[in-house]
Amino acid sequence: MDIMKREIIFTKQQIDERVRELAACISLDYEGRELIVIGILKGAFMFLADIVRYLRIPCRIDFMWLSSYGTSSSSSGKIAIKKDIEMSIAGKDVLVVEDIVDTGITMSFLMDRLRQRQPRSLKTCVFLDKYERRKVPFKADYVGFPIDDGFVVGYGLDFDEQGRSLPDLCRIIE
Ligand code: 5GP
Repeated sequence: MDIMKREIIFTKQQIDERVRELAACISLDYEGRELIVIGILKGAFMFLADIVRYLRIPCRIDFMWLSSYGTSSSSSGKIAIKKDIEMSIAGKDVLVVEDIVDTGITMSFLMDRLRQRQPRSLKTCVFLDKYERRKVPFKADYVGFPIDDGFVVGYGLDFDEQGRSLPDLCRIIE
């Protein structure tokens, strides 16, 4: 895969509009409550940074880093927690922010783990959803954009650590 061969599928402006809409929905749904927002490293860092700036509710932010043993473009299904959150989520309202759901394996693993810690509520907000590629059932509560198959980079998402800093979301042209 060559990240130089790419086409824009969502521009910075389109992303910004959608992020504002998502943040408005989240702010409404959690009105009067305080949220713990958990960002999944590294891919969700930009999405999280944008979304929390548009939230109109108080929130605390933490990060988790997961490792998946696979190639740089697909996960193998074996997931482990490389860096855990620092705060306790027991009895709290928790929103997990992730870059992309593909097979669903990563998010279903994570949801199982976080549910064991007994948060008051646990929801997910994903920037992109490749819903047609699920291998295990997983439905995100908030979705930025559904996308078809194909490998995307930009807006935090990488291929082999390249392309994360691109402001637009791009599809790699095979
Ligand atoms: P899942 O466990 O749902 O199959 O995979 C989720 C992970 O796969 C994401 O967190 C991401 O690291 C990676 N992934 C899946 N599709 C893409 C893609 O199109 N682009 C990038 N950069 N990563 C992807």
